[in-house]
Amino acid sequence: AQTDKELLYKIHEIANDFYQNQLFKTEEGKSIGLSYFKERELRNDTIEKFQLGYSPENKHAFTDFAIDKAYKKEILEKSGLSIFPENAPKGIDRFRGRVLFPIHSFSGRVLGFGGRILNNNLKTAKYLNSPETDIYHKSDVLYGLNQSKQAISKYNLCLLVEGYMDVVSLHQNGIENVVASSGTALSINQIKLIKRLTENVTILFDGDAAGIKASFRSIDLLLSQGMNIRVLLFPDGEDPDSFARKNPQDFVRNFIEKEAKDFIDFKAEVLLKEAIADPVKKAEAIRDIVKSVAFVQNALKQEVYLKEVAKKFEISEQTLFNELGIQKQIKQ
Ligand code: ATP
Ligand code: MN
Ligand code: MN
Ligand code: MN
Repeated sequence: AQTDKELLYKIHEIANDFYQNQLFKTEEGKSIGLSYFKERELRNDTIEKFQLGYSPENKHAFTDFAIDKAYKKEILEKSGLSIFPENAPKGIDRFRGRVLFPIHSFSGRVLGFGGRILNNNLKTAKYLNSPETDIYHKSDVLYGLNQSKQAISKYNLCLLVEGYMDVVSLHQNGIENVVASSGTALSINQIKLIKRLTENVTILFDGDAAGIKASFRSIDLLLSQGMNIRVLLFPDGEDPDSFARKNPQDFVRNFIEKEAKDFIDFKAEVLLKEAIADPVKKAEAIRDIVKSVAFVQNALKQEVYLKEVAKKFEISEQTLFNELGIQKQIKQ
């Protein structure tokens, strides 16, 4: 007999085919879903590469289809793809009237979906994701890893972005070494997945307050896992997708290469934007940066970074080493 997990994989495979079919083969899918992707300038080969789909408005579409194929209510419910409200005569689809991004495992099995609403109607959350299930644990998965793993190894570098469209759009623009944490805070397990392929990460988060906050947190976590990192902040209001659409391919590649800074320069720039002349702000910024240096795993690298801080802010190395000692003690 098939185990529950095998059945869950199977049902996701069937759902993935169903939603892709809806996108390309039905009037509703073509006129709503496909035209949405076209508006966002995605080509058919990109849509196919990422197996993007469409879930129809009809709230029984997938559940009826799966029941017809003899899948049981219990397993449909466990998959998170259907909901069976008490007293309701029939199951209801989780994803309705959305374009879908299937989330694949490292080896390419579909584990769940992210679904985007089509208008920017703020009454509903922009993205709806699969719930945690026996096969989908969101902090153990990176969106795009399956499609990007070869390029990550080849370039010995992983670009880390926030969103589904950032991954898809960069791929379409010839930049294929990219994954997204997809709205969850970056986790240690996600970093371990990257580390199988490379120790080098460039963080490309959105140019807004949320993106800056997420990058600060991610810097320390990545450093604590022994990763080498660079950070690139997009202009305010831009994300990798919008930026890639506005600029030529070579420019984007160059921009990422040239503009990404090491974490010290990045933090200094963000923390000292307007306050470079304020001694109190400056001391706070230095302390914040040394806090990150305390997460660096290798003593030699740690010393090199501290010397960089000393030079940049014209502070004696001895003072910084003392501060580093304090920060390390606080961490314990
Ligand atoms: P788009 O370009 O489609 O408007 P985005 O990817 O730029 O979306 P952001 O608001 O920057 O959207 O969010 C980054 C990522 O965070 C999304 O791609 C998605 O994975 C996740 N996310 C955003 N909003 C939600 C939400 N309401 N619920 C769950 N995940 C979300
Ligand atoms: Mn964002
Ligand atoms: Mn976006
Ligand atoms: Mn974004």
